Amino acid sequence: MTRILLQGVPGVADRTHEVQSLTTDHCPRIPYQEDPKLKEECGVVAIHGHPDAARQAYLGLYALQHRGQESAGIATADGTRLANIKGMGLVSEIFTDDVLQKLPGSMAIGHTRYSTTGDSALLNAQPIRVDSTKGLIAIAHNGNLVNLGNVRARLERAGAYFQTTSDSEIIVQLIAHSRAGTLVDAIADSLSQVEGAFSIVMMTRDRIFAARDPRGFRPLSMGRIRNTDGPDTIVFASETCAFDLLRADYERDVLPGELVMVTEDGVTSRQYSTGVPQTSCIFEHVYFARPDSRIYGRWVQESRDQMGRQLARESHVPSDVIVPVPDSGVTAAIGYAEQCGVPFRFGLIRNHYVGRTFIEPEQRVRDFGVKLKLNPVRNLLEGKRVILIDDSIIRGTTSRKIVRMVRGAGAKEVHLRISCPPTISPCFYGVDTPSKRDLIAANKTIEEIRQFIEADSLAYLSLDGMTKACDGGEGTGFCVACYTGNYPTQWVDVEDILPAAASV
Ligand code: SF4
Repeated sequence: MTRILLQGVPGVADRTHEVQSLTTDHCPRIPYQEDPKLKEECGVVAIHGHPDAARQAYLGLYALQHRGQESAGIATADGTRLANIKGMGLVSEIFTDDVLQKLPGSMAIGHTRYSTTGDSALLNAQPIRVDSTKGLIAIAHNGNLVNLGNVRARLERAGAYFQTTSDSEIIVQLIAHSRAGTLVDAIADSLSQVEGAFSIVMMTRDRIFAARDPRGFRPLSMGRIRNTDGPDTIVFASETCAFDLLRADYERDVLPGELVMVTEDGVTSRQYSTGVPQTSCIFEHVYFARPDSRIYGRWVQESRDQMGRQLARESHVPSDVIVPVPDSGVTAAIGYAEQCGVPFRFGLIRNHYVGRTFIEPEQRVRDFGVKLKLNPVRNLLEGKRVILIDDSIIRGTTSRKIVRMVRGAGAKEVHLRISCPPTISPCFYGVDTPSKRDLIAANKTIEEIRQFIEADSLAYLSLDGMTKACDGGEGTGFCVACYTGNYPTQWVDVEDILPAAASV
């Protein structure tokens, strides 16, 4: 069963409720905790002017599921009411047909979440719906605020009562406490008081808002579904891959520091902040975003292909086959193989049916987690000099298991190439990174890491190579703090960036 929370649903008192999950719940399941990858915080979507807005939001969230699998929610409005349903689990587990029918209206915002701030409770799932002095507001937020403590304490002194421990509610409370005369002025006022990463969508009973933080840390795009018999449907999504499922045309990115408002009179926009340098998260191009998305004005596929090519130019060694660590290493490996003229082969096969949970094995075996996910293709690896392409090394333990797996399948040599620089510092802008003491590259030299993962050679893409590959001559300003330790905002948690007390 999946627990869901209903708020403002017509004919239903606010309550938590259980729905039959589409997954099999009769098997004992334990959390799948072997996933070595960094986790994105959230994906957001908004729909304005569609007769079945809830279902459109559902489709958008379905396409954004890779950005968060812990909880999901959809809020809808029909001009007078604002209903909200959210639950723990995958979008398809929470939003059955019955549940979607409880969400009337031509406007919707949606959210899928992997939390980095606030605990995992259902209450902190989004959208967050707050009955404020400015009326009912629902908000969905991708990113992480960094001056959280100051603003929250100030609001509490001013009488604010927080329903959740999520930082997203701070924005709503700031709106409620703003002295600005109009709602749009109050939103602009509140957004200019918080610092950090936020791509947000908001909804009142009759309006949709979309905004990005002044530095544009997280992506947010605007699209349009053309309607021949009425006004167009305006949509917003964290990634443009959501537009394809909605049959929406990409129109433009929401700009850093921009606040867009959509009403039945059309789309209006204002810059609530100017003059701040753009620092968009480069790791969206390296790993998070789907290759079929266009973010910061550039196709992710193109960036990853160029990262692979540059990696080959910088660090190729004689070899027989180029093998990606699937799925995220695939596009860079194709670029790498094309650049160096060595055959590309799927020498590791990923089991796509290993999700967030798996049925507990009767007998635990060594490296079981990685073996559940990946299996070597022995006839492609046996006797070969293999170059493995991956997009990151976080703790190093998973990379070592993969190197051992490839060698165990008969590879003569195993060389690991990483399509970004060493990850040496945690993220404070919406990506769940281990603290510095757990990041292997913060504590060991590249040669020490090579020894630890038992590879014949190890090389990372240079910082310059990565930024050129992701920029494509478009002049995008990037955040690269997890590779350099230089943070674009003032405030960081000093404890977390102190050098490690002991090596990994
Ligand atoms: S620190 Fe790294 S992951 Fe975080 S926003 Fe900057 S580039 Fe992205």
